[in-house]
Amino acid sequence: MPGPPRDRVKGRLLRLYGALLGRFGHQRWWPGRTPYEVAVGAVLTQHTAWVNAARAIEALRSRRLLTPARVAALQVSELARVIRPAGTHRVKARRLKALTRWLLERLGERFDLMRTAPLGPLRRSLLEIPGLGPETADAILLYAVGRPVFVADAYARRVLARHRLIGPAAGYEEARAWLEAHLPSDPGLFNEFHALLVAVGKSHCRTLPHCHDCPLRPDLRGRAPAR
Ligand code: SF4
Repeated sequence: MPGPPRDRVKGRLLRLYGALLGRFGHQRWWPGRTPYEVAVGAVLTQHTAWVNAARAIEALRSRRLLTPARVAALQVSELARVIRPAGTHRVKARRLKALTRWLLERLGERFDLMRTAPLGPLRRSLLEIPGLGPETADAILLYAVGRPVFVADAYARRVLARHRLIGPAAGYEEARAWLEAHLPSDPGLFNEFHALLVAVGKSHCRTLPHCHDCPLRPDLRGRAPAR
């Protein structure tokens, strides 16, 4: 008896993953000593390079402020002053306060509850926090607490669209659902694959694609990348 039809897209995605891993190696994302630090980093890196977010995290750490209780006790203006290196510091201070309030009220600082809570309601609740879009919420879910959500950011969507796997106008939610439908529901895989897509997005798949020495070139099968 023939088995169930094989998911060719899955095979293709896993080949892309293998090619990226072979070229770039493990990315070891996301830097952070605690789940709270990872969540703070996800907010601080919004609209800025990671190096700026890392400076703001270091400023918080050196003042021993990297706990929900300490951030909750700060005035927004004080917090903004400390995280200034991350840019748009007043906006991000309000977002960090809102995220921290949510954590304290909903989980009482027990991040481990996020590892087992039903994923759909948890994600919807995170998305209600002012200033937390899906990309930030999913980065927290995946990188802070290891839930199987794919961070389908602009880097990922650009590669997938250029390889005609998704449409050029596919938005965040469409791409996330598509990736999650075609990949094994494995947070470790999602973590590494997303980090590798960012790596190739920065090194090769930029505004103008540099396909000639890109590890994903064989997948184009002689065709030019889709526009
Ligand atoms: S640079 Fe070219 S080969 Fe590499 S991911 Fe982008 S479109 Fe694909």
